[in-house]
Amino acid sequence: MKWALIGASRIAAGHMIGAFRAQPGGEVTAVLSADARRGAAYAEEHGIARSFDDLGTLLAEADCDAVYISTTNEKHHEQALAAIAAGKHVLCEKPLAMSVADAVRMVRAAKEAGVVFATNHHLRNAGAHLAIRDLVASGRLGRILSVRVSHAVNLPQALRGWRITDAAAGGGVIPDITVHDADTVRFHLDEDPVEVVAQMTASGLGQGVEDSVMSVWRMPSGVMVSTHESFTHPFAGTGIEIHGTEGAVVAREVMAQTPQGSVTLVDADGRYDVPFETHDLYERSMRLFEAAVRGEGRPSADGWDGVKSLAVALAVREAARTGAAQTIDYGV
Ligand code: NDP
Repeated sequence: MKWALIGASRIAAGHMIGAFRAQPGGEVTAVLSADARRGAAYAEEHGIARSFDDLGTLLAEADCDAVYISTTNEKHHEQALAAIAAGKHVLCEKPLAMSVADAVRMVRAAKEAGVVFATNHHLRNAGAHLAIRDLVASGRLGRILSVRVSHAVNLPQALRGWRITDAAAGGGVIPDITVHDADTVRFHLDEDPVEVVAQMTASGLGQGVEDSVMSVWRMPSGVMVSTHESFTHPFAGTGIEIHGTEGAVVAREVMAQTPQGSVTLVDADGRYDVPFETHDLYERSMRLFEAAVRGEGRPSADGWDGVKSLAVALAVREAARTGAAQTIDYGV
């Protein structure tokens, strides 16, 4: 497949260009940047034939079947609608949009146009998370009681731009990381949270946006979920624990972009290391996306998964802002 990049971003450079090129016949043919000189330099650095500074021109002229949108968050909605109208398949970064209503519009437009639309939630592609999901689904843990997600990290220096200063661009740890945790918990439990309570703060990095949040979610089954996301924790490490009546799974350092960490099953008889695959997360995601374009299966996280993760994240922010429990509005 031939891809055009909408956004000359770090995530494209660090993970996605490689993932597109890793597919049989995979090419990246064009890049869009608002700054023509930066776009040209980006294209040269990454071996991309053409750069554009106007989306309409790119969509009309670039030789591409699909676009990957990784601009700042407030641009995703409009750019996705334009790409869909041009008949392109779309892989869009999380959060899909600044509001659930906009995200729903994107997904519906893609369905009406008959193009594949996916959300770049990488974690559900990780071997560790696939192994955890298998354990939960197999019943090995018994009845699930609770999930605890630890996703408090030290935001790398290079990322301390719009994420911590620019609310209008979609900054803040909730649109950045809580969306991923929402997707991951939904993936493991196969159900959607119904209500959340939360507290948030700026604890050293956030300027006009939150850099830390803790939330508790109610699931339809009665499972209790707690999550902690932060940009300011150099020493916390990440992880997820799922506790059931017959066993628990305790996974460390698995809320990551690379195949890493450990998964341990704990039950009445002892502790066991759970083996898992160590493929590249983004390459697997692209393999499934391209299969979906061929009419085989679905992307690992589709548009509705992106709508739902955004809805949870926005409810968490609203619960923290108001101090009141929020029922989640999935916009459908
Ligand atoms: P970047 O800050 O790297 O890029 C966002 C935009 O900022 C680009 O589109 C670019 O604008 C501009 N930009 C980038 N670098 C520079 C620079 N050196 N000087 C001036 N402008 C610059 O964002 P990220 O790659 O961190 O994130 C992009 C999107 O991807 C976000 O939606 C984010 O949430 C998501 N993301 C997802 C991840 C995942 O694993 N799924 C991981 C990381 C991010 P222009 O294109 O106009 O040149």
